[in-house]
Amino acid sequence: MKEIYFDNSATTKPYTEVAEAVNSAINNMFYNPSSIYDKAIAVSKKMEDIRENIAGTINTKSKNIIFTSGGTESINTAINSSIRNSRGKHIVTTEYEHDATLNLIKKYEREGYTVTYIKPENGIIEVDRIVEAITPQTALLSVMHVNNETGNIIDINKLGNEVKKKNPATAIHIDAVQSYMKLKVDVDKSRADYLSVSGHKIHGIKGSGVLYARDTSRLNPMFLGGGQEKGYRCGTENTPGIFALGKAVEINDRDFTKNTQYINELKNYLKKSITDNIENIKINSPENGVCHILNVSFIGAKAEILLHTLESKGIYVSTGSACSSKKKGSHVLRSIGLKENEIEGAIRFSLSSLNTKEEIDLCIQELRAAVEDIRMITKFGRR
Ligand code: PLP
Repeated sequence: MKEIYFDNSATTKPYTEVAEAVNSAINNMFYNPSSIYDKAIAVSKKMEDIRENIAGTINTKSKNIIFTSGGTESINTAINSSIRNSRGKHIVTTEYEHDATLNLIKKYEREGYTVTYIKPENGIIEVDRIVEAITPQTALLSVMHVNNETGNIIDINKLGNEVKKKNPATAIHIDAVQSYMKLKVDVDKSRADYLSVSGHKIHGIKGSGVLYARDTSRLNPMFLGGGQEKGYRCGTENTPGIFALGKAVEINDRDFTKNTQYINELKNYLKKSITDNIENIKINSPENGVCHILNVSFIGAKAEILLHTLESKGIYVSTGSACSSKKKGSHVLRSIGLKENEIEGAIRFSLSSLNTKEEIDLCIQELRAAVEDIRMITKFGRR
């Protein structure tokens, strides 16, 4: 059975070249980059080349790039650092952030910070509504560039400029985990103070990521130790993860236009195929959402049953974010105002450049049959 993988927002398959880069980090470049003989210096040099290349992709300098273990760590460091550096006791975020952001901000709320959670309207969050919430006391604004369940995009360049006009002291953190290498990200244009990226969402490997910090001297490191990453993130560097990230960024950056156009075509094809072939559905992703995410409610077909029926045919989708899929219902879909039966039937398809139209055709056949069967059984069961 051919595997059809449509869960690329949860994680992506590492590129073949990425696996080769990991292999080289494990086999011939396994030396500790802090050691001082030539072979170790070569590892350190390669790491610095990768840092410089990644910096270039978001329009910054390598001194502003810290290697981390992924999105969650970058987000935690960014938020903790912003709070630590501010006397203001107010935080602005949205209701539909990733749990890495929400759970940390809720902790600060319990400790006495006032938090404004912006609620989406008609599925989207307008920049103006975020800006309105900024006050002279706002220490931090933390928002995701692209929502991981719906694909909604926030115009971070407009947002950053307006927020800084209103309160230049408000630190801006952008969670770019779902947007990096799908949309152009520029830390100067967006005026971001911090930006978080994850390696495994862009065909790198798990346990690798990047934190951009405009002023690294304001970082509040999570780990103290041997002074790696200039002391901002101690612990022997995860060179296999960093090499993988470097290769993934190199490939994604080289193929950016071709890939994003291709993935967008696939998404439109998938959307049209679902709309043409299956009745009683609701598209939950905005018209102008990111290229790789399509969220659809199949009314009357329980998403979990649908997911496992598709899984039995070798097709992998998701009911929400990978982190929220084991919890009851998606806070994101609830926050965009979906009714309970729409949440119950919601499936997220997330695509990558490794997918094809043929896979979509196969998926649609199985999807149509599965939706019809589940609806029939549910109806029969309710009689
Ligand atoms: N932020 C967003 C928008 C995500 O989609 C994810 C992962 O799903 C994360 C943060 C966490 O990233 P990581 O898995 O690298 O910790």
